[in-house]
Amino acid sequence: MAKNIDWGSLSFTYQPTDYRVTAKWQDGKWSDLELTTDSQVHISECAGVLQYAQTVFEGLKAYRTEDGKIVTFRPDLNAQRMIDSARRLAIPEVSEEMFMQALDMLVKANEEWVPPYGSGATLYVRPFIYGSGPIIGVAPAPEDEFRMLCMPVGPDFKAGIKPIVIKVSDYDRAAPHGTGNIKAGLNYAMSLYAGELAHEEGFSENMYLDAATRTYVEETGGANFIFITKDGKVITPQSKSDSILPSVTRRSLMIVAKDILGMETEQRMVAFDEVKDFVECGLCGTAAVISPVGKINDHGTEIAFPSGMDEMGPTLKKLYDTLTGIQMGTVEAPEGWIHEIK
Ligand SMILES: *Cc1c(COP(=O)(O)O)cnc(C)c1O
Repeated sequence: MAKNIDWGSLSFTYQPTDYRVTAKWQDGKWSDLELTTDSQVHISECAGVLQYAQTVFEGLKAYRTEDGKIVTFRPDLNAQRMIDSARRLAIPEVSEEMFMQALDMLVKANEEWVPPYGSGATLYVRPFIYGSGPIIGVAPAPEDEFRMLCMPVGPDFKAGIKPIVIKVSDYDRAAPHGTGNIKAGLNYAMSLYAGELAHEEGFSENMYLDAATRTYVEETGGANFIFITKDGKVITPQSKSDSILPSVTRRSLMIVAKDILGMETEQRMVAFDEVKDFVECGLCGTAAVISPVGKINDHGTEIAFPSGMDEMGPTLKKLYDTLTGIQMGTVEAPEGWIHEIK
């Protein structure tokens, strides 16, 4: 039985569900995974996460398909990325096997919270690991907690997919060879102020350029770029110093473009100077799949894409429809992309 929720009016807001999964790292090993109904965590005031921001996270969704199954999309890539993130912040890794076990336990236990097919809503899953043990000298926390929680979230775009306006930021997101390529809370903490400034000025997001030269496009605070050229090529930026987060959505869209839709694709350095020549621009991430960008403001100079401010451009729309079709089970998925929760 599904919960009695007005699925259509949900937004992207925290809401505790019945269960979350937890495991503790103590004495050099992980405890068994457990389900708990307690939505609070109880940690030392000197926990590594509180003092030195030692925390990494992931984000993925569970979907209800037309035939009533519950599926997740390429969760092995989230598991792998969390291993990379954890390693970089000296946090104990959660194996792919343990991650998958936690995911199955969590979604199964919260089955009534998985929104029905066709509602537009999905179950957002948030895995994270943080330093829970006390530490004051700068070092990794002696104990950690792995936790996975979930919540139903609303349709990505209630009023259809409206293009957004973004600005080129005066701040940097990620230093060369820093932590830009991992999913760490610290990357978000330091983007909040720049984000607030952008919002005050009426922009939806910041576009970050490479920190070293401010001439190449990297990403926004939480989504990768994808561009369409005049001759229909799909381009996504690459960073010389590996400071772009490897988005599962973006990597999947590039495969969909090339192998399913037969488009030409390129992953390469993209100079900001080239952006004005593209015909479509989108932001990709789990939350919205693709958010179309209508305009980019660079210190008062505006780049307006020919796709306009009314709707997503035709090429991005094709990519969006194909990928969301794969996720919802109406388009055949490449081998291994869909994991059914049983
Ligand atoms: C999570 C995230 C993305 C999007 O990645 P997906 O795996 O597609 O959800 C892009 N950029 C940053 C900085 C992120 O943290």
